[in-house]
Amino acid sequence: MKNFPQTADILIIGGGVMGASAAYHLAKRGVKNIVLLEKESHFGTGATGRCAGGVRYQFSTEINVTLSIHSLPMIERFKEELGQDPGYHKYGYLLVATNENIVREFEHNVAMQNRLGVGTELLSGDEVRKRLPLMRFDDALAGTFHHLDGTADPNSLVMGYINAAQKMGVRTLTGADVIGITVSGGEIRSVKTNLGEIETRLVLNAAGPWSGLVGAMAGVHLPITPLRRQMFTTNPLREVPEDFPFVIDFAQSLYFHREGEGLLVGMSNPNEKPGFDQNVDEDFELVNLESAIERMPLLEKASRASHWAGLYEITPDAHPIYGVTDVKGFLLCTGFSGHGFMHGPVSGKLMSELILDGKFSSVDVSMLDLKRFEEGRLINEYNVV
Ligand SMILES: Cc1cc2nc3c(=O)[nH]c(=O)nc-3n(C[C@H](O)[C@H](O)[C@H](O)COP(=O)(O)OP(=O)(O)OC[C@H]3O[C@@H](n4cnc5c(N)ncnc54)[C@H](O)[C@@H]3O)c2cc1C
Repeated sequence: MKNFPQTADILIIGGGVMGASAAYHLAKRGVKNIVLLEKESHFGTGATGRCAGGVRYQFSTEINVTLSIHSLPMIERFKEELGQDPGYHKYGYLLVATNENIVREFEHNVAMQNRLGVGTELLSGDEVRKRLPLMRFDDALAGTFHHLDGTADPNSLVMGYINAAQKMGVRTLTGADVIGITVSGGEIRSVKTNLGEIETRLVLNAAGPWSGLVGAMAGVHLPITPLRRQMFTTNPLREVPEDFPFVIDFAQSLYFHREGEGLLVGMSNPNEKPGFDQNVDEDFELVNLESAIERMPLLEKASRASHWAGLYEITPDAHPIYGVTDVKGFLLCTGFSGHGFMHGPVSGKLMSELILDGKFSSVDVSMLDLKRFEEGRLINEYNVV
């Protein structure tokens, strides 16, 4: 390839929200000779481009809430900073509890979120029913609602960062598949791609669900499991109001939010097997549709506009992995376990801090290191959908 870069001061693998945000934040701090490699023909077509776009403060661990406290205002300021509208719609997330265990968990989570300054409300079953007149939630015992939660547009975020990074001199390549990483003396030396080899001393693995494969190229085992998740959208449904919240029936991992003038509906298959298959499982789609119609009968008359599947990048404690590995110069920003889109902005910034200052300053994520898995320091997140 003509003009293929021969060297990189920092080489980023992956052009999803993590890689794009890291490239932007590093370039903004003045780093020259950054190369970002994406194997597909467009940026943001991995997990980021297939995600539901949900952004929320409502998590069950302090660290995830804290990441949201830093990341969501960055989405809020995105247009001002990068000139691209991120399509942030704040219609709130309404999580619904239909059994006592979930109610206890919700009470605990709301108290913790309130302590951190997040104004989540705890709702009674009757309040849930009142707020969701189009839905059938006779069995709702409680709910939680936070008005600043909502959705943003994944493509706008990725391309906002990529375009701004390019303007600051970052070399961003599509169709550049990383096929090998040379390590010698315990240090990164070069990265091999289908287009050629690039010498570098610093690699950031931001390959999302494929991060485990990239880790293996450097001889680093990563406990990241790719797991298929899917959803469908409907044609316009006039009955659904513009302020319809992102509703999650927690016990079923079933969710609904407005998408254009219709709805986006998704559900997690508890029997899904790990793997890289991104085709829609039509049998499970029927299960999803039936459960959705039970909750929202008007879906019976809806028609499907589109459907797709993508991969979660699951770690054993459903928290991301940030930072160093035993291979010098091989860094990680991955393993976001199905809720990373919303933490992309702050995560790229955190990686720029680690690389340039040697420590995380915006949020202390040092406990989310790779070593926690072998040292048994796992932090479980309950609010995974
Ligand atoms: C169905 C679904 C719904 C979701 N819903 C939400 C949600 O509502 N809210 C939320 O916050 N998160 C959600 N997520 C999770 C979110 O999408 C991810 O956590 C986040 O996008 C991860 O970003 P990433 O940049 O790490 O990964 P990706 O976007 O997958 O980017 C990694 C990139 O690396 C590239 N790559 C991989 N291997 C190589 C290689 N060898 N060489 C070169 N390039 C390579 C890939 O092609 C890919 O583009 C959802 C995910 C899915 C699948």
